[in-house]
This record gives sequence, C-alpha cells and structure tokens, in this order.
Amino acid sequence: MKRALLSVSDKTGLVEFAQKLVALDFELISTGGTLKALAAADIPVKSIETITHFPEMLDGRVKTLHPAVHGALLAKRDNPTHMQMLAEQGIETIDLVCVNLYPFKETIEKPGVTQAEAIENIDIGGPSMLRSAAKNFAAVLPVVDPKDYEAVIEALQTQTATPEFRLQLAAKVFRHTAAYDALIAQYFTTDPEPEKLTLTYEKRQSLRYGENSHQQAAFYVDPLAQPYSLANATQLHGKELSYNNLRDANAALQIIAEFTDQPAVVALKHMNPCGIGQGSDLLAAWQKAYDSDPISIFGGIVALNREVDAATAEKMHGIFLEIIIAPSFSKEALEILETKKKNLRLLTLDFTQAKSAADREVTAVMGGALIQTGDQTSETVADFEVVSQKQPTPEQLAALRFGQTVVKHVKSNAIVVTTADRTLGVGAGQQNRIDSVKIAIEKAQSKPEFKNAILASDAFFPMDDSVAYAAEHGITAIVEPGGSIKDKDSIKKADELGVALVFTGVRHFKH
Ligand code: 5GP
Repeated sequence: MKRALLSVSDKTGLVEFAQKLVALDFELISTGGTLKALAAADIPVKSIETITHFPEMLDGRVKTLHPAVHGALLAKRDNPTHMQMLAEQGIETIDLVCVNLYPFKETIEKPGVTQAEAIENIDIGGPSMLRSAAKNFAAVLPVVDPKDYEAVIEALQTQTATPEFRLQLAAKVFRHTAAYDALIAQYFTTDPEPEKLTLTYEKRQSLRYGENSHQQAAFYVDPLAQPYSLANATQLHGKELSYNNLRDANAALQIIAEFTDQPAVVALKHMNPCGIGQGSDLLAAWQKAYDSDPISIFGGIVALNREVDAATAEKMHGIFLEIIIAPSFSKEALEILETKKKNLRLLTLDFTQAKSAADREVTAVMGGALIQTGDQTSETVADFEVVSQKQPTPEQLAALRFGQTVVKHVKSNAIVVTTADRTLGVGAGQQNRIDSVKIAIEKAQSKPEFKNAILASDAFFPMDDSVAYAAEHGITAIVEPGGSIKDKDSIKKADELGVALVFTGVRHFKH
C-alpha cells in the first residue's frame, strides 16, 4: 500500500484530493488540523504520531521533524543499504507529500502584526518535508500547490507520473520554498545593500510580447506591492496591457503622484510626459495637458488624479489613447469611454497613498542588477536660491516650482518650459543639454502662454549657452541645480540678459 502525508495550512481542495488518493489505494497520514478536516469528511486517516511515536510539541513547532518522516522520504528506493536501514528502524516509505506552508505573507500583511506573530508563522517542518520529497522526486511526489492536485491524481490514475513530471513538481517546490524564505529574509532585513539580494516576484500574466513582437515577456508582481502600484490597479475595460503599456503607465503614475492639491492630468508617451496640466477642475487640467502637445498625445497614456467626469471623458474619447488611469470614473464617463473603443484600457487605482517613486528600484544590467532608493525628493520654493540680480516674481516662483516638479520625471538631458499650471514644451533624452533646450523652446514658442514661461533643467548647465539661448528666445526665469564649475558664466549671462536664475542644489537625472 502506498502512503501519502498531507499537512496543509490552505485546505482548498484537500478533501477531494484525499478522497481520490484513498480511491487510488493510498494510506493517508496527517498532522493535527489537516487530520481533523479529513476526519470530519469521513476520510480514513492516521495521525502523524502513529509514525513518529512522538506527540506534536511546542505548540506545533515540532510536528513532523522526525527521522521516521524524513527517513521515509529520503531513502533511495534502489539502494539496498538505505532500505535495510529503514527496515531496521521500522520505518515505512512515504510516496507522496502534500504540504502548503504557514501563511507568512498573509500574516505580515495584517495591519499591526507583531514580530512574534510573524515568527510563529515561519513554517519549519513544512519546507523540510517538501525539500526532502523534492530531493527524492525519483520516489516521492512532492505537491505544494492545490492547483496541481488534479494533474497529480490524473498522473497517478493513468500511471504517467514520469520522472519529468516529478522533476517539474520538485522544481516547483524549490521555487516555492525559495520564495517563501526570500520573503522571510526581506521581512527581517534592514541592510539596504545586503550581501545577497533575495527578491521574489509572482507571475501576474504572460504578455503577448515584450518591447517588440519578437521578444517574449511576462508581468511579475511583488507579493508585498504597495497599494499605489500597477500590481494593485484594476482594469475596467479594454485590451490586455502590453509590456510597453505597463512601463508607460508606471511612469505616468509616478508623475501624477506629484500633484495632489488640484485636479491634474498627465499625458505621456514613451516614458516621457508630453503634457501636464493642473486647474480648478479636471476638464481645465485636461485641456492644458492636451494643448501642451496635441500631436504627441496621439496614442498616449493619460493619468488623472481625480474621478473622471463626463465632460473630460468626452474630450478624451475624441482622440486615440492607449490607457486612461484614474482613481475612479463616473458612470457617465465610463459609458462614454467604453463606446466604440473596445481596445482603450481603463484602469483604476487607489490614489490615497500615491508616491512619485518606489522606495527601492531595481534595474537590470547585463550580468546583474542595480538597486537604488527611488528619487522621492522634490523641491519647493523654500529650497530655491536666487543667484541672479533679477529676483523672480511670485508668479515666476510658482512656475519654477511647477517646472522643477515636472523636469524630474523627464529623461535626461531634460528641459521643460512651463507656466505655473501647464507644460508648454518638453525636451527629453537628448545627449546634450542645449539640444533639449532648443526642442523645449521650439515646442513652447507658438503658444500664447509663452510670454510668462520659465525653463527648468534636471541638471546644471555645463556652460552659458543654454541660459543665453533661453533668454534670447523669451524665457524670463530659469531653475537648475547649479554645481557646474562654469556656474559663474551662466549667472553672468543671466544678469547680462536680465533673466532670473534660481539654483536648487538638487540634481534629478533620469536615465
Ligand atoms: P495542521 O493544520 O495539519 O495542524 O498543520 C499543517 C501545517 O503545519 C502545514 O502548513 C505544514 O507545513 C506545517 N508543519 C508540518 N510539520 C511541521 C513542523 O514540524 N513544524 C512546523 N513549524 N510546521 C509544520
């Protein structure tokens, strides 16, 4: 008679699985809670104590950690010495282990959880049994996921539990226990640069392709993802999100998080904002974001920080957009946006804990990964140091603040031309700063608001050409970090041309 050891915290599908094992002539052995559940369903089952001849002890900390269990799992069946040893100790082999672990993740997610509770939810015997079974997959079927119960039963019924099938179950066990331990390690680790980085992600979905159609891709999420993240967004409508959609949506979420006081709209293309507006209502904010660059917004991503109303929905419905993300949509707005736009992706997300960057960012490089704390620093007028003779007016200061907030989210070399409530031109990702200046000003120049425009730069000007170009083309105030050995030249140029120049002391590269 074959024997199966069942010890599960998540009892989903347990009874049915056990019934089928019994029908396949398995003798069942179980630990406390699992045994109770099986007995309650009238399934014949032996307690673990009948094998270990030892009571479960220490409040369940020690239940199955016993040679009678691990010998039964680890003995090589084709090794006569192993089998002889089992016989001498009166140990019978176990052929299937079905274990899922104490809910450590669910425990640490509970608000106000204590360290003691977390510690009690570190499973010790479960991973040990799984690892023993997985190591000896040649003889033992290791089952860790209720989703596999059906396939395991079918393989047993049809006698197709091949070595390859078993190996895949074993590999799954090692992934599972590794991820489980990684989470425990993360929970206790305080060192921001530990000697081993133990990240763990869960597959959310396969993607149709990656950045391009010949690249394979999937979306994985952090099991402890913060509420304000794509991992916790809800898609209400539209085609499945693509790889590029996810990256763009992520960038848009980071930018819109900067704006909380007033209704604001971010339009984004290829990871860079093409228009940002804020105003007394969402429609006004939308119009400003749209007017910033009515060409680039085509096929773009739009993030809004207030519930989408019918009027704003009408406007957005009028153009081709890939994604709209907001805290919510009014019923009318949803109806408008869903009409004749089956592909348009509509996402909602809880904005109450909006953050402009993750606490920690991980970036892949060939052969490794870089980690850094996210750029969560933003400057206010109080951080501004006026270095020019010309003092900025209160209106200019408000605009400089807006520009400084935006420029942080534009790929370097980043230059933005703005007023206090809208972008007018964005110069992104040029290999030299003056080219970004030219692009931003060229986009801004034709607009009526340009006469009050300021310019913001993500990093210092290496020489005075940017200040000269900006001033000569109508910019009246500039904000930049400062810190170049040629700062003096830029200040001199500002004074010569009568523009206000403000330093922040903080660089915001985004590569
Ligand atoms: P039950 O509900 O059957 O009482 O307990 C099942 C849980 O106990 C499973 O999650 C299993 O992984 C875990 N478990 C089994 N043996 C041991 C052990 O010896 N020590 C600890 N800490 N957990 C165990």
